[in-house]
Amino acid sequence: MLNSPTLVLNRSWVAISTTSVRTALALVYKRVARVIQPETYQTHDLDSWSDLRVEPGDPCIRTVRLEIPVPEVILLTRHNHMPRRQVPFSRRNLYRRDGNCCQFCGRRFPTHELSIDHVIPRSRGGRTNWENCVLACIPCNVRKGSRLPAEANIALLRPATAPRWSPCLTVNVGRRRASWEKFVSEQYWNVSLEED
Ligand SMILES: [Zn+2]
Repeated sequence: MLNSPTLVLNRSWVAISTTSVRTALALVYKRVARVIQPETYQTHDLDSWSDLRVEPGDPCIRTVRLEIPVPEVILLTRHNHMPRRQVPFSRRNLYRRDGNCCQFCGRRFPTHELSIDHVIPRSRGGRTNWENCVLACIPCNVRKGSRLPAEANIALLRPATAPRWSPCLTVNVGRRRASWEKFVSEQYWNVSLEED
């Protein structure tokens, strides 16, 4: 139960992340977040949340003395207390970051016409990470070969960096709690996920 997920909203009530129930309770205990009761939108500190009666069948955490309802959604009340989860470096996320566009010519291609290019070639010590991998179309990839961009007289449209979006809202869709729906509906998905 303590490892099950809790949705995290920023101060503008925009879903930015998920965390474990354990971490959520710690954040509420430290008074940097409040628990949201999804039905009423009421927010609670740990005291008032623990005072809520646990209905039979509702998920709860039992301690020696009390039963605490599982916090399914929390609201951050301060800045910068939620470390942004790193976006996993995966093929899927790389294609998403680059929007299926070749990072040299800027044109969009179907997935099978793109490959992952090491900006600094692996043969020259280039790493396989967000900062050194970009999508490239076949002509650009051939043109560049295993050279540095400058050597091939080709340039990146923008530096490669790790994406800043939160992956949890775009993956694991099937693992959302029902109470999250109103907070992660289409309108929430379309809000740009900037740090507040
Ligand atoms: Zn290209």
